[in-house]
Amino acid sequence: MPFSAFHGNPEIVHRLRDMLARQHFPHAIILAGASGAGKYTLALMLARTLNCLQAPVSDGLPDFCGRCANCLRIAQAEDFGARLAEAVEARENLREIDKKETRIFVQTHPDVLVIPPDPPQMMIKVDQVRRVIQGIYFRPAEARERVYIFTDGRFMKEAANSLLKVLEEPPEFATIFLLTENPGELLPTIRSRAMIFTLAALPGDELERYLAKRRPEWSAKQRSLVARLAEGAVGRAHSFDLVAYTSARDQALSLLGTALCARDHSELFRMTESFRPGAEGREKIEHLLETLYSLLQDLIFLHSGVPDLVRNTDVQGELTKLSQAADFDWIASAADRLAEVERGLRRNLLRSLSLDAFALALEKD
Ligand SMILES: [Zn+2]
Repeated sequence: MPFSAFHGNPEIVHRLRDMLARQHFPHAIILAGASGAGKYTLALMLARTLNCLQAPVSDGLPDFCGRCANCLRIAQAEDFGARLAEAVEARENLREIDKKETRIFVQTHPDVLVIPPDPPQMMIKVDQVRRVIQGIYFRPAEARERVYIFTDGRFMKEAANSLLKVLEEPPEFATIFLLTENPGELLPTIRSRAMIFTLAALPGDELERYLAKRRPEWSAKQRSLVARLAEGAVGRAHSFDLVAYTSARDQALSLLGTALCARDHSELFRMTESFRPGAEGREKIEHLLETLYSLLQDLIFLHSGVPDLVRNTDVQGELTKLSQAADFDWIASAADRLAEVERGLRRNLLRSLSLDAFALALEKD
């Protein structure tokens, strides 16, 4: 199962495993790629391969067993969202004075440390890098190799400079992974001390085949929709919330329809009423804005004569109808106004009011 369970980018996986086989594995590796491309999954697989007690071989290259004590403990970090939430909650429960001193880490094995961006700024902080420096020069306790995984490329300035010092003289027995959506956000001096591997997007049909195996409950049409919306990222496709998306999209279609045809607004007011309360409303409205953008983009594709690029293919009939009622300028101004709504939301204007204003503003004369 192990490496064969990784989807996409076979050449990169092969090269990394080959370097392991030849014991030329770099001390610092930048794994770049879109959110959901598999950077974290791959880093954890390599961490297990570096430390697996069975050290199995598949296709002539090093693999991991997934069953030994090291593999099992490292695998507990796989559900990154859950582990991160636990770490953040543990900090929330500390005394005020300790809270300030405490940084967020995910650690399920004594020699493997995952360093996420620290909330609320969501950047890697200097105290996190200090913790890395404190441990990295000691031989691993239970593994062969100490592994550090920075899950984000956004570093505070002092943190980046401290990391640079480690990269200048890394110990023999440590490997550092830097995961980033954009290597350009790392200091050039950091980039030059690491090997960069960029995980490319998977082709749509490959993603659909993957979903056919992993989400058999979805119809072929639904799989094709998710594959297009995930833009080649396996992780995003796998965890896609299709129910939330389609329900938000129904609302978005109705909002655009109302705006374009200047029908009765009571339906719209009823819809936005339901958004008022709390965090759930917040999430709903974010889904709605996201789907509005994706529909407007599809309308632009239809108008620009590139229907192949349309992602919401399962509602193509409705999209075509909308695109006949809307000209290019209308769509462009709708996108602008949507950006205004988003800014308004960030300033915490009453949500439903700013959405109603959005729809009213779009009414055609
Ligand atoms: Zn193992």
